[in-house]
Amino acid sequence: MAGKILIIGACGQIGTELTLKLRDLYGNDRVVASDIREGNEELMNSGPFEIADATDAPVIESIIDKYGISKVYLMAAMLSATAEKAPMKAWNLNMDSLFHILNFAKDKKIEKVFWPSSIAVFGPTTPKNDTPQTTIMEPSTVYGISKQTGERWCEYFHDKYGVDVRSLRYPGIISYKTLPGGGTTDYAIEIFHEALKNKAYTSFLAEDTGLPMMYMDDAIKATVDIMKAPSEKIKVRSSYNLSALSFTPKVLAEAIQKEIPDFKISYDPDFRQKIADSWPSSIDDSEARKDWQWKHDFDMQSLVKEMLSGVSEQLNTAK
Ligand code: NAD
Repeated sequence: MAGKILIIGACGQIGTELTLKLRDLYGNDRVVASDIREGNEELMNSGPFEIADATDAPVIESIIDKYGISKVYLMAAMLSATAEKAPMKAWNLNMDSLFHILNFAKDKKIEKVFWPSSIAVFGPTTPKNDTPQTTIMEPSTVYGISKQTGERWCEYFHDKYGVDVRSLRYPGIISYKTLPGGGTTDYAIEIFHEALKNKAYTSFLAEDTGLPMMYMDDAIKATVDIMKAPSEKIKVRSSYNLSALSFTPKVLAEAIQKEIPDFKISYDPDFRQKIADSWPSSIDDSEARKDWQWKHDFDMQSLVKEMLSGVSEQLNTAK
């Protein structure tokens, strides 16, 4: 592989596991992690790391030069729930960081870019079930507005300047290795920790709130696969719909009860309910499946089993 990989926002929920997977695939010293803060021990000890602010173009450029970077995965962002509390900060981080990377690609300093979008690009007027790739998009959150705008710019930089940028509209990503960063789907992670610690959980979303979700391993697989696919196969240059599962807090609780029969759930919706209500319940990702053969591996029960065993191992080591 010519040139090295840079992951910006590498210490977050997805960045951590993505960095470790890419180091596995391409070699530890070929994958540079960066973030504004240090990450977990495994990440910090497995390869090169740089503290860098994604909005600081000269600093990012100096890292690209120092390591001979050719591919950038831009994972730094402010997520849905946090962004509602600091709209301008979220807008500046989510947009400036993307422009810097798109401009480096336009100027041929780097060859390929991965930038994640989200189901948050959809809004209350979008068809809720089996939401198609192309449809009404009127996002009502700061985060969603920034992701939709980002998608437009990705497509523009591809069409106008030939920038090889690839993107996925991640659903809620469920994992246990790194805690989530303030999204609306975080309940589907907290529930496992509380089920194992206290056998009870109060969900901040109502019982019948259906949302698209995916186990982390599938999200990482999709990210690796879309970046590996030949350029001509990537027909969508805004961002691909991506889907695996769709469930409500009630259905997730029932799946957990199959493993922990005395687990109890209650519901106390907060400001995140309104965000969740504006998003699709399920996603049609047939274009990703057709164009670059996307396929998910984890169903509901395998996700629950993986989460319970991963979180319980973590709780035992923490003792
Ligand atoms: P996260 O909040 O867990 O991680 C983001 C990382 O970015 C953090 O480590 C943070 O320290 C870092 N960061 C923040 N500001 C920075 C800055 N100025 N410079 C450099 N680094 C900075 O988020 P995540 O869940 O890992 O999400 C990664 C990407 O995937 C984001 O673009 C997010 O919008 C998208 N996404 C995530 C989900 C999900 O369920 N986790 C769903 C849809 C889309």
